[in-house]
Amino acid sequence: MIDRGLQVAGEAKRSEHWPKVEKDFKEAHPECAACGMRGELNVHHIFPFHEIIAAGRPDLELDPRNLITLCVNPEYDCHCEIGHLGNFSSYNVRVLEDCKKYGKLKKVEIEANPDWLLERNVRPSGHFNGALDRGIFLSKIIQVFGKDPQVDLHGDVLGK
Ligand SMILES: [Zn+2]
Ligand SMILES: [Zn+2]
Repeated sequence: MIDRGLQVAGEAKRSEHWPKVEKDFKEAHPECAACGMRGELNVHHIFPFHEIIAAGRPDLELDPRNLITLCVNPEYDCHCEIGHLGNFSSYNVRVLEDCKKYGKLKKVEIEANPDWLLERNVRPSGHFNGALDRGIFLSKIIQVFGKDPQVDLHGDVLGK
């Protein structure tokens, strides 16, 4: 399967521990969080891989709190439509609530949905520009996940 996160990541490399974390997560969450389908699935990063690396939070590549299973089924394509708001360079920090909102809609129906179109129109560019953007991104991460990593750089839970 094409690794979309890596495609937009430029220089950044996946952790050597990512394949195991990905496999374990997919086993624990074997269906699309939006439409419920099994089969062609992607383990998606809510805060995208290239930005968490650039923001200095590599732990979030391996932290299950930042992961969600979404399908790449051509009829639904929840990964692209809901996880990335229609563009793999972008991302959707409200993906959890949007899975409930758009999860039963097919790709063509999502793309005609006024709420989705509004979100798409203000979707993040996906590559922050300079320190201010980086600061805003980091403060969003801290709001959602807190300041302290919960897994180490092997993907193991800290303090256990
Ligand atoms: Zn789906
Ligand atoms: Zn993704």
